Amino acid sequence: MVGILDEYRERYRGRPIWRLIEEGYYKPWERLRVTHIRGWDLHVKSESWQLEGPLRMLFHVLDPEVAKDPEHLIVYGGTGRAARSWEAFEAIVDTLMTMEEDDTLVVQSGKPVAVFKTHKMAPRVVISNAMLVPKWADWEYFRELERKGLTMYGQMTAGCWAYIGTQGILQGTYETFAFAAEKSFPEGNLEGRLVLTAGLGEMGGAQPLAVKMNGGVAIVVEVDKKMIERRIRHGYLDTWTDSLDKALDIALKAKEKREALSIGLLGNAAEVFPEILRRGIVPDVVTDQTPAHDPLSYVPAGLSPEEAEELRDKDPREYEKRALESMKMHAKAMVEFKRRGSVVFEYGNNLRKMAYEAGYKDAFEFPGFVQAYIRPMFEEGRGPFRYTSLTGNPRDIERLDDELIATFKHNKRLVRWVENARKHVKFQGLPARVVWLGYGERARFGKLMNTLIRLGEIGPMWIGRDHLDTGSVASPYRETEGMKDGSDAIGDWPILNALLNAAAGATWVCFHHGGGVGIGYSIHAGIGLVLDGSRESELRAERVLTVDPGLGVVRHADAGYERAREIACSRGIWSPMLQC
Ligand code: NAD
Repeated sequence: MVGILDEYRERYRGRPIWRLIEEGYYKPWERLRVTHIRGWDLHVKSESWQLEGPLRMLFHVLDPEVAKDPEHLIVYGGTGRAARSWEAFEAIVDTLMTMEEDDTLVVQSGKPVAVFKTHKMAPRVVISNAMLVPKWADWEYFRELERKGLTMYGQMTAGCWAYIGTQGILQGTYETFAFAAEKSFPEGNLEGRLVLTAGLGEMGGAQPLAVKMNGGVAIVVEVDKKMIERRIRHGYLDTWTDSLDKALDIALKAKEKREALSIGLLGNAAEVFPEILRRGIVPDVVTDQTPAHDPLSYVPAGLSPEEAEELRDKDPREYEKRALESMKMHAKAMVEFKRRGSVVFEYGNNLRKMAYEAGYKDAFEFPGFVQAYIRPMFEEGRGPFRYTSLTGNPRDIERLDDELIATFKHNKRLVRWVENARKHVKFQGLPARVVWLGYGERARFGKLMNTLIRLGEIGPMWIGRDHLDTGSVASPYRETEGMKDGSDAIGDWPILNALLNAAAGATWVCFHHGGGVGIGYSIHAGIGLVLDGSRESELRAERVLTVDPGLGVVRHADAGYERAREIACSRGIWSPMLQC
């Protein structure tokens, strides 16, 4: 280590990032270079947690325990990146470490481009990722610009430094399966039910545990053995096999005995789904989380991940053609499962649209998950509120679990989730928790956290959320599919959300294009909020955690959703068009 440091000292002479290299958090000579930062020592010149917070979250999302492919700065969701290049990463770090606490850093698609003097309550960082003028917004053109080094795909939370590992999606997935069960089965859970799905990636990897938490049996088809092993290591998957016969045998026995169990099946969904159908087996629930949003990430039938990589490099057009053909077979099998009685829904990856474009005109016969199950939560301003302990202390999360249960004890679903999460979730990187809170609840809990920090009972915290939220996304095949008033493709709301959060004093604000469903199909906004116990951070929390879900309530009230209107009127959200 000392030898290596000597070698690198010259190269990094005088740069602030050198301190993080010396402390072992950044190893530029290694393939997996970044480790999350723990403890109370501040690394930023400003000595402000408002700047140390974004620095720590950037390191956190690139920790190999958190990120899918940290060597290439890819965090999750196909090629969702945290920074455009390692040079850009180092420049962001140097800048955060030297900025003043009334400066704002501007990041254009993963590259830091300017620092301006603003004011202390303004965001410390503003980020825009992958935005394109609408007429040019498709994968082909995006990739051309990406090859020229002009842009970066930020997915939803990767480029916003707000990804917390698979737990981030675990609760949403758990809730979605719970809703599906409540709506479809008399017992209201998944006990004695078989769920067939695919994809054990950074998001999809939540599926087996979410099914289990609802009492069901899951078969999850995954083409890459490494991803299966990663899920088993993280405690999200029980067992695996490469034999369909064996997977079905174990699953059907567990279903019979009403035992909760998850099985990874090494294979390609485009081949395995039709084969299960051919055998006449009709699972109770069918969904999918392969990266169908990006035809260059979805592995075509007949190829191993290694062969797929080779073809992707050699002939990307041929790759895309084969991937789309496979998605067609995949979606066709899902439609047929629905016709035979399975509960089928698309899980936010745009599979239906891809299959439709590839010529399968019945692809939209099954619904998307937001339209089918999540929208009632969005009407209440409810969404994926998440937080991390910036000092890396798991006890802070445990303490806040207790506070959540005490504060929201009337919300049985929430209490059940927190108890389950405590039992099953292994932290990745900085200890974190996600919990779906609604309008009013987020501000209340944020302020409570700030008080606990001020009293010295917990350390400084980061609060954020997925871009998949009540008022921060326009995505006509996902979050805004089938809106009551037809406003699915109206893009004003996420832009207003970002502007409002900047005005309210979020520590950072991000605006992205193409997350979840791919380039051309969505725009969305995200936030980071650092709480350090000060009066200033209490104000930030109160304002941001009110306006952020508040705009979601207004968005849904404006679209004609009665529950949203009731909440807006009864909780004093003033809107000239509601006439409460
Ligand atoms: P990921 O890239 O981390 O993982 C995808 C996994 O699918 C990989 O492990 C890959 O090996 C596997 N895979 C690829 N092709 C396959 C095939 N044909 N058969 C079987 N396995 C295959 O992606 P992720 O972060 O897990 O996201 C998955 C999808 O879900 C993406 O389209 C993403 O945009 C979408 N998404 C959904 C939500 C949600 O709320 N439901 C949220 C974010 C993202």
